[in-house]
Amino acid sequence: MIIIMKPQAADTSINAVSNYITGSGLDVHLSKGTEVTIIGVVGNKSLISADVISSMKDVERIVPVTESYKLSNRKFHPDPTSITVGNTQIGPENLTIMAGPCAVESEEQLLEIAHAVKASGATILRGGAYKPRTSPYSFQGLEEEGLRYMQTAKAETGLSTVCEVVSLEAINAAAKYVDMIQIGARNMQNFMLLKEAGRSGLPVLLKRGLCATIDEWLNAAEYIMAEGNPNVVLCERGIRTYETSTRNTLDLSAVPVLKEKTHLPIIVDPSHSTGHYKYVPSMAKAAIAAGADGLMIEVHNDPAHALSDGPQSLTCEKFDRLTGELKPFCEIVNRSFK
Ligand code: PEP
Ligand code: MN
Repeated sequence: MIIIMKPQAADTSINAVSNYITGSGLDVHLSKGTEVTIIGVVGNKSLISADVISSMKDVERIVPVTESYKLSNRKFHPDPTSITVGNTQIGPENLTIMAGPCAVESEEQLLEIAHAVKASGATILRGGAYKPRTSPYSFQGLEEEGLRYMQTAKAETGLSTVCEVVSLEAINAAAKYVDMIQIGARNMQNFMLLKEAGRSGLPVLLKRGLCATIDEWLNAAEYIMAEGNPNVVLCERGIRTYETSTRNTLDLSAVPVLKEKTHLPIIVDPSHSTGHYKYVPSMAKAAIAAGADGLMIEVHNDPAHALSDGPQSLTCEKFDRLTGELKPFCEIVNRSFK
């Protein structure tokens, strides 16, 4: 449930309600807006009395939250959340571009791409060091060596960095070198990994599972947040359908649906969703129009020889052309970019 306090409720009244709830063994999540304060309740509600709360000073009304996700629920936190990643912010007013290679292949490769994407307007460098590949014989990533190159790229360019993690060991390594960890589509319901990501306290980019519903995805975010880590960003990367013309089907309608259901920022990945570099620009623009807070785009200096996901990677030149075309789309939706 959420408890909506009267406009300009006194702090003493807010504290009295909070203390009643925490004193009964439940958790409180406070959302103080400009006008109204909302007290979100997490835990076993049979331990508290709605009648007692309703009769407390400055309580306006109680609204039940029927969804199983609470901390990620927009009812708990009506204002959109902004997440800090290194020296940049994701949501709600700017367009954040994360770009870089699918996999970190060498220091040279990463630095060349990092400088190029920075010059084109990206603020976060992506690069996989642990690659969850379909085949065990495909390139699996440079692991900690790749993370070290990410750190060098950050130092050289000032870009913030994000890298996928696939295990607790990878989380601990990533914490030393990058600003944000990514939970990939294949691990979206790896609940132990979600809990560890929550305990790490690091900002988490949570990609949508290959076949996950939006509610399952928000429950995955809840796993991270329930460990005390509010720094979650969602990434729509396409879902599996019967359509084979594209690698996945980009569910752009997820963006407005999520805007209604959650306060967390939403990034769209037109690269993994389409699987073809030539479809990336149109879907990137459509994502902005749909209300996305950012884009994640795979960029490679030599896609033909990329060790993973070459066909969907933009060259640095194509990426630069694309970012040069995004401004009017941002202006239409009142989003700042560059
Ligand atoms: C990636 O971003 O490199 C990746 C593997 O994406 P996904 O988990 O969406 O397939
Ligand atoms: Mn990839």
